[in-house]
Formats: sequence, C-alpha cells, structure tokens
Amino acid sequence: MFAFDECTTLHNTRPYQELALSRTYDWAIRCLDEHKKLTDQRANKPYQALFGVIQGAQYEDLRKKAAADLGGMSSSGIEFDGFGIGGALDKDSLGTIVGWVNSTLPQEKPKHLLGIGAPEDLFVGVENGVDTFDCVLASRIARTSSVYTMTGRFNVSNAPYVRDFNPIDDECDCYTCKNYTRAYLCHLFRGKEMLAGTLATIHNERFIVRLVDQMRIAIIDGTFAEMKKEFMGRYTHKSGQARN
Ligand SMILES: [Zn+2]
Repeated sequence: MFAFDECTTLHNTRPYQELALSRTYDWAIRCLDEHKKLTDQRANKPYQALFGVIQGAQYEDLRKKAAADLGGMSSSGIEFDGFGIGGALDKDSLGTIVGWVNSTLPQEKPKHLLGIGAPEDLFVGVENGVDTFDCVLASRIARTSSVYTMTGRFNVSNAPYVRDFNPIDDECDCYTCKNYTRAYLCHLFRGKEMLAGTLATIHNERFIVRLVDQMRIAIIDGTFAEMKKEFMGRYTHKSGQARN
C-alpha cells in the first residue's frame, strides 16, 4: 500500500508544488508511524509493505528532493519498503522525470510508476528503472472498443471488422482471442452488449501482462533495447498507434 500524498497537476504554481511536497513529506512520516503501530498490532498476519510516494511535478530539484527525503526517511524505527512515482507526468517528460527520481532513490528498493499503462510508456518506465505499474487505461479503452495488438491499437467496432472472422490478435493466447472473432466483438459493441467491454478488457489486460513478461525475459537475456526497437517498430508502423 501507499502512504498518503498530494497529487498535483502541471498547472499548479511552483509555490503550490512546494507546499504540496511539504504536505506529502509530513504525511509520509505520519504513515510510517501508523504503519509501525498497525504492523505490531497484526503481528500474526502477513506483513503489508508500505511505499512512499514521490511527487514534485516537472521540477528536477523538487523531484530529487522528494526522492532523497523519502528515500532516506526513517520514523518509529522503520523505512519505506519501496516507492511510488506519482503526479504530473506528461508523455514527453516521463522518462526524464522517472530517471531523476530513480537515480536518487535507494537502488535496492522496488519502484512503482503510478497510473502509467500505455505500451510505449511502459518501455520508457522500465528503461528508467521502474519495476511495477498500475493503470486503468487497458480496461478504459477496452470499454470503448479500442484493443491492443502487436501491430498497434484499433477500434474493433469500426466498419472493417463487421465481417472480420480473425481473433483480435492472432499472436494472443487470451480467452477472448481463443474463442471469439473481431466480427463477434464488433457485433457486441454495436448492440451495446455489456459482454463487449468484458471480452475486450480480458484481451487488453492479457496483452499488457504478456508485454511486460516479454520485457522481463529481454532484460534477463540482455536484449531489452532490441526488443523495444522491434516492438515499437511494429506497434507504431502507421502514424500514431492505429492499425487501420
Ligand atoms: Zn487476446
């Protein structure tokens, strides 16, 4: 679980970002103290890890200060088990900001990137030291008929798929791809059947899990850079992410 934090936006002023960071710092101490108390009370239950959240918006000094403060923080005799990187992260500065934070945080502790989930962004996170992610994106876009494939993202409710009897992605091993066609998904979306969003979500979630599985293997094999190049070449082979 995560300590309390204040999540600011890119539109907040610099003085406000400083104030918010100070509030997040104070909360981090209170969360460590409470975590120690609760951990002692539930000593017969499995330990729950507590992560601190690094804020600081787009400011290098604030991000590095937050990472140094929470990375070295100790209260009631305990430290954070890992760290979340949160707040204002636009696509263009994502890698830079994550790099500032992760180069400052303790190297041996896990780093989680909060709320980032687009395939291309997962690569940027991983190559800058992120270990885990969480994001609603895969299910949110699935509910509006947008599905991931190795050759890009497309809307399965569009006209070309009315009579397309292939699976969403013939390289996918998910329940949806094993049992249903694009044409059937297209029919479900057009009929406003709730099953449409469920089946598309099953596929998109599986796509993301398989993608990070492949990244992990590539890191172990020392081929991450090549794997990223190959994936991005196929995934963005047409303008944007669209397949059709
Ligand atoms: Zn699938």
